[in-house]
Amino acid sequence: MTQTTGVLDERMYQYLLDFGTREESLLKQLREETSRDPMARMQISPEQGQFMKMLVWLLNPKSILEIGTFTGYSSLCMALASQEDCKIVTCDMDETWTKTANRYWSEAGVDDKVELKLGDAMDSIRALLESTGGESFDLIFLDADKENYPNYYPRLKQLLKPGGLMLIDNVFWSGKVADPTDTSEPTAGVRELNRLLLEDAEMDISMIPLSDGLTLARRSI
Ligand code: SAH
Ligand code: CA
Repeated sequence: MTQTTGVLDERMYQYLLDFGTREESLLKQLREETSRDPMARMQISPEQGQFMKMLVWLLNPKSILEIGTFTGYSSLCMALASQEDCKIVTCDMDETWTKTANRYWSEAGVDDKVELKLGDAMDSIRALLESTGGESFDLIFLDADKENYPNYYPRLKQLLKPGGLMLIDNVFWSGKVADPTDTSEPTAGVRELNRLLLEDAEMDISMIPLSDGLTLARRSI
C-alpha cells in the first residue's frame, strides 16, 4: 500500500478519499493493478495525485519532466490534467514497470503527450541539458532514487524555467530524516536535499505534510 497522509486517523483518511479526491476509473485500475506488485508502496497516494492534478490545472504547464515513472500513476495524473499541447518527459530505468505505464498512457489516449526516457535518470538529465540548453521545463517532479537526490538537484534546477515549479517527493522519508541515528544512504540523500533547498535563496519553498512529505520549490530567478 502507498504511503498515505499519516496525520489523519483511519476514519478521517477515508473521508479525505471519499470527498477530497476524484480518482478517474483508469487511475483506479492502475492503482489496483500496481497493488499486486511488492513495490506498490512507491506509487503516490490518491490524495497526492489529486493535488498534483490541481497544480497542473493551476499552472497550465507546457513542459513537464518527471524523474521516476514506475507504473505511471503520477505521470497519468499530470497527463490527464494538462492541456493538449503539454509535453511530458518521464525517466525510469525499469522496463517492466514502464511497460505498464505505457499501456495506461495509451489506454487513456495521452500517449502523444508522454515520452519515456528509459535508462539511468542522470544520463537522461544530462542529455536533456545538452539538447535543450536548460530552462526548458515549467514543472519537474522528482521521485526516483533518494540517495541521488542531491546529485539530481542542481541539474534539475538548471532544467527548470525561472518561475517554474519543482516538486520533490518523500521529503519526510517516513520520518527518518529527523532521526539522527539513521545514517542510511537514502535517508542522507533526502536530508541533504532538504538542506540544499532550505539554503538556496533562489528557490521559494513550501514543505507540505502530504503523504510522505512533498516540497514545492519555485525557481524565483
Ligand atoms: N512517481 C511514481 C513512483 C516512482 S517510484 C508513481 O507515482 O507511481 C521510483 C522509480 O524510480 C522506480 O520506478 C525506479 O525504477 C526508478 N529509479 C530508481 N533509480 C533510478 C535511476 N537511477 N534512474 C532511473 N530511474 C530510477
Ligand atoms: Ca514517491
